[in-house]
Amino acid sequence: MADYDYDLFVIGGGSGGVRAARMSAEYGAKVALCEERYLGGTCVNVGCVPKKLLVYGSHFSADCEEAKGYGWSVEKPRFDWKQLLENKNREIGRLNGIYRSLLQNAGVDVLEARGTFVDDHTLEVGGKRFSAAHILIAVGGWPSVPDAPGHEHAITSNEAFFLEDLPPRVLIVGGGYIAVEFACIFHGFGSQVTQIYRGPLFLRGFDEDVRPFLAEEMRKKGIDLRFNLTGKRIEKTETGLRMELSDGSSVEADVVMCATGRKPNTGGLGLEKIGVKLNDNGGVVVDEAYRTSAPHIYALGDVIDRVALTPVALAEGMVVAGALFGGAKKEMDYEDIPTSVFSQPPIGTVGLTEEEARHRYGDVTIFKSSFTPMKHTLSGSSEKTLMKLIVDKKSDRVVGCHMVGPDAGEITQGLAIALKCGATKAQFDATVGIHPTAAEEWVTMRTPEPAKTATA
Ligand SMILES: Cc1cc2nc3c(=O)[nH]c(=O)nc-3n(C[C@H](O)[C@H](O)[C@H](O)COP(=O)(O)OP(=O)(O)OC[C@H]3O[C@@H](n4cnc5c(N)ncnc54)[C@H](O)[C@@H]3O)c2cc1C
Repeated sequence: MADYDYDLFVIGGGSGGVRAARMSAEYGAKVALCEERYLGGTCVNVGCVPKKLLVYGSHFSADCEEAKGYGWSVEKPRFDWKQLLENKNREIGRLNGIYRSLLQNAGVDVLEARGTFVDDHTLEVGGKRFSAAHILIAVGGWPSVPDAPGHEHAITSNEAFFLEDLPPRVLIVGGGYIAVEFACIFHGFGSQVTQIYRGPLFLRGFDEDVRPFLAEEMRKKGIDLRFNLTGKRIEKTETGLRMELSDGSSVEADVVMCATGRKPNTGGLGLEKIGVKLNDNGGVVVDEAYRTSAPHIYALGDVIDRVALTPVALAEGMVVAGALFGGAKKEMDYEDIPTSVFSQPPIGTVGLTEEEARHRYGDVTIFKSSFTPMKHTLSGSSEKTLMKLIVDKKSDRVVGCHMVGPDAGEITQGLAIALKCGATKAQFDATVGIHPTAAEEWVTMRTPEPAKTATA
């Protein structure tokens, strides 16, 4: 190790890189980290955190409306986008500072510049060269926009967080969770929102009951969802933008936001020089210990193109730091990763979808409940909640929980612990509910759906 400047050099100060750097330094390693754009990475700057703040902000219009049923007289509320962004930016600035101090207090040398490979033990960062025994690639991902005419006029989620004004008309292109969340965010703030997606229904990979349920709820609120459509071209008009669609129709908007996927951020790093293999999507290929095809070079987080979620990048970072410097050989367990889509209403999900469960276990029992949450008996909102529980018939184990409804993310985190512990339906049934909550439904669902026949 003495021959190198550092034991570990981390490229990328996002969720995974910061966690790996900090823990490695705490284990006693000499560590440096370089970050070219913003400490905290995507999650803190243009991802989870600012998005959740916008979700909170956009919900107040519905809250004010619903307050009337509870006797409140609410004057027409006024919303100031600039004020919200100013407050959001201040908070993100505070978090950037916290990330910097976390690293520095752990003894990590932080270099705020881009890093590229010179050779397999040497990086160039901000015009200087540094050598390291181990190098960790944690450069994350970047939005990808279709290569179609006029798409240079479109924005991505990166820019959506910094728009000068709230656009009156927004067209969202895409059907993943980021597209869905932004459709709900802009709608909540009062924009007229159209969302188009090339497939028959958005949120591919989510449970087949959840997807149409959320689509119905979003349509009820007034979001114009259009499926089986792609955008052909975007052109500027006198009043904004017009996107021509594959069915010959067109949509006019002030902002077109493409949430059409993200790609690993591996371009220009110099990986071809050092023989680090990439997959077809540009993701770094790693083994179960996050070693790349160059054994002392590691990669984790969004750049390995597996599960692009902050808590996953954090967990991978801890595995790498533990294995390299903590004497801990642990593999990441990718089973039962809970997740939430912060749509309005939100989705919470953990475990298998019904389709996956049938494929893995054959015989499964489904418990489903759809109801009007108590709050909406007076609020006047017609929003409904869905809960679905999937049980492996043979072992009685609960193998999937899916919810659409208020606080779905908060509720699902608790259910995820039960699933991780291998809880059975009998144990769910033996659990006393908390009354009156929506969540008590998880422990009171007793009547299974009629069994599906092979042809059903
Ligand atoms: C809009 C949006 C919403 C999201 N919402 C959620 C959510 O609700 N929940 C959730 O769990 N996940 C969410 N995610 C995903 C989450 O943000 C990512 O999974 C997570 O940030 C990945 O962490 P990472 O460390 O792999 O990469 P990143 O956080 O992307 O960090 C990579 C860092 O590397 C830096 N970098 C790149 N190249 C170089 C270089 N050559 N030299 C120096 N620095 C470099 C980048 O500037 C960046 O800061 C969201 C993502 C987006 C885009």
